[in-house]
Formats: sequence, structure tokens, C-alpha cells
Amino acid sequence: MKRLTDHLIVISFDCLSANDFEELKKLPNFQRLLEGASYCRQVNTIYPSVTYPCHTSIITGNYPNRHGITANTLVQPGRPSPDWYWQRRHVDGSTVYDEAKKAGMSTAALLWPVTAKAKIDYHIPEIFANRKWHSQTAVSLMNGSFFYTIEMNRKFGHLRKGIRQPWLDDFVTAAAAYTIRTKKPNLMLLHLVDLDSQRHRYGFHSTEAEDALRRHDDRLGELLKAIDDSGIGDRATIIALGDHSSLDEHTVIKMNVLLKDSGLILVGKKGSVTSWQAYCQSNDGSCYIFVKDPEAQERVNAMLHSLVTNPKNGIGALYRAGEIEKMGADGKAAFMLEAKEGYYFSESLNGEAYESIQEADVASGLYTRACHGYSPNKPGYQTVFIAKGKGIQREVVLPNMSLVDEGPTFARLLGLDLGNVDGRVLTELLTD
Ligand SMILES: [Zn+2]
Repeated sequence: MKRLTDHLIVISFDCLSANDFEELKKLPNFQRLLEGASYCRQVNTIYPSVTYPCHTSIITGNYPNRHGITANTLVQPGRPSPDWYWQRRHVDGSTVYDEAKKAGMSTAALLWPVTAKAKIDYHIPEIFANRKWHSQTAVSLMNGSFFYTIEMNRKFGHLRKGIRQPWLDDFVTAAAAYTIRTKKPNLMLLHLVDLDSQRHRYGFHSTEAEDALRRHDDRLGELLKAIDDSGIGDRATIIALGDHSSLDEHTVIKMNVLLKDSGLILVGKKGSVTSWQAYCQSNDGSCYIFVKDPEAQERVNAMLHSLVTNPKNGIGALYRAGEIEKMGADGKAAFMLEAKEGYYFSESLNGEAYESIQEADVASGLYTRACHGYSPNKPGYQTVFIAKGKGIQREVVLPNMSLVDEGPTFARLLGLDLGNVDGRVLTELLTD
């Protein structure tokens, strides 16, 4: 298959929303990128629209039920800090970076989710130390490319403050710009989280989120400059995309408190889960209900049915296994609930089942101001996709597309093929 570009640079701005598009047009570097670019400002995300499933759909072309990353975290009832789907081994099937590597191309990935221990040449995976006895530096070194990570930390480590934003994105951007200049990889995947962090903490339209967008514009400028400086400008393709939007919330729903009150979850003296028949795994805007004991199925069904029939409960929809599978989410869950706008699910077992969100709880990190994880069909919840450079037609505006169309399109640009996947190659964007 013919290769359409020599260098594909993909920048994921986590939580970049269709609702940001007018603002992007006013920012100098996004404006520069948009000149002559092709784009779609109505990109449907996947379900549940949380970061790890989204980024895996972007890079595999499949919905979560096929690639296996059906949530951010593993189901570990009662564990205060559950493990995330960090490692490549959790992903079923191939990815664009695997195919690129197989074809002998050089690859780079910086904080791209679910890539720990993947075969990527220049690699700092997104993996955080979530056990007290783990150190962040050791965790990063063990799961990415060892000497490259040391080199990037030596050169740019002064920019970061651990894994806190916005400094982490500044570090990652500096490392990415340096990598473009000196290594000129055929494929680079970059994940920036500043905007998403600010929206969770301060809300969708907060001044903090606006500031993050401006910082992202500066970072984009730094990367565009690195592409120009490296001399690969006329052989490179640049993609800027988002993974989901987000919505403000006022009330948290704790399904596990309701399940505990019904005797379906048992907790010990210290409040941790000792046994369970049904358990809620939160995806913030939606949640899965797993049912271990088939005898509990009907009880849970009745309980959820009565909840959803009262609109005051903040639950917009109740889905059962077959429907969940059809939407591309985890078919192993017995039920899935979609929150109404303004509501989100917490996995907590403590306190009241419903709590209105107070500023003190947000400041302490207990709750958030905005979240995602909702259905792709929520109104005004689309994300964006912008493509420009080698192999891309000028000024094609796609009315709509899906996150799963991105991976097959990236593969086609690099002369690769992801095979039979859920998404399609966006041929109308390509020059060949
Ligand atoms: Zn995200």
C-alpha cells in the first residue's frame, strides 16, 4: 500500500470539545494550523467516553468491546486506588504504532494511554505510581524506553513538578519538540491533559479552562516550530484531535451505597468490601453494574428500574447487556446507567447515596466540577479532528465522523492497514 506521508504527528488535546472550535479559530497557532486544513467539528466519541477507552479506540479503530479497554480502571471492588489499564498487553488486536514498528518505521509516544511496555522507540508512557512503595521515576523508567526517558528528564525535568498540571504538559511538549528535531520519528503520538484537568477541577467554561486552551495554543506553536526547524515540514502530516467533551455537574450519585444498603455489597469494619453480589464501576457520566450472582440479577434489575422511572434520580437511561454490547461498551456488565446532565457517578461506598457537590469537596479532590464518560449521543458532546499536511486534501470539511475512523486513517496515511476494524478510512480527506 502506498505511503502518503513520511511523518505523522498526532497531538491529542484531552477534552478538546466541538464547543471549543470557535475559540480555537481566535488563537494564533490553532489559526495557523486551521489555514488550509481539513477538519471535522462533530466527531462522535465512544461509550463510555473516558480517556483510556477513547485513546485506544483512536489508535485501534475499534470500539471498547473489541479492543478490551472498556473503562479507565480495572474492576477492583473496595480498593482505594484501583489499577488503571496502563499496559499495552491489555489491548486486544493491533494498533497503528505496532503496525508502524512492524513496517520498520521509527515511533514515538509521549503519555499516550495504555502503551506501557509497548514496542515504541522513543517512549514515555502514561503510568502513575499508585502504590505508596512505588516511585514515579522508577515506574516511568520500567515501562517506557529507559535511556530516552533518562535523557528527556535530564534535559527537561526542570519544567515538571511531578505529574501535576500544567507543568507536566510543558515537560511533555518540550520533550516532543526535541524528539521531532533530533529523532524525526515516522509516527509520534502525544497526549496533553492540561485542559481536561482544569475542566474537572473548575468547570467547562471556567477561566482556568480558557487559560489551559491558551497554553495548549502555545504548546501547538512550539511543536509547529519544531516541525519547521527539523526540515520535515513538507513531508509531515499534523493531526490535532480531542477524545471527548465534558459537562458540568452538581450532584454525585453513589450506586454502591444503594447496593450496600440493599445487602448486595458487604463491607468490613474498616469500610472496605468483603464480598459483593453486584458492584458499580463508575465511568463518571455513566457506570457499569456488574452482577456476580445470577440470583441477584432480578433484584438489581427491579432496583434500577424503579430508580430510572423517577426523573428526580438523575438517571437518563438504563441499558442491559445486549444493548451495552451494541453500543461498543463492556458486554460483561449486566447493566449500564447513563447519568442526566448535571449528575455523575462515584464508586464511593461512603456517605449518602446522593450528594450535592460543594466547593470544599472539589477543593479537597473528593468530587469534581465537570466530567465525561457520557454517551456519545448526549447533545453538544462532540469532539474535533483537524488534519493538515502531506497526504491530506486542503479544506475538506467533514460533517461528521467517529473516533474509530481515526486509527484506520492514520494507518492509511503511513501505507499501513489495521485490517477489519469498526472504523473506516476517511478517504475523502486523503490525496490518494
Ligand atoms: Zn480524556
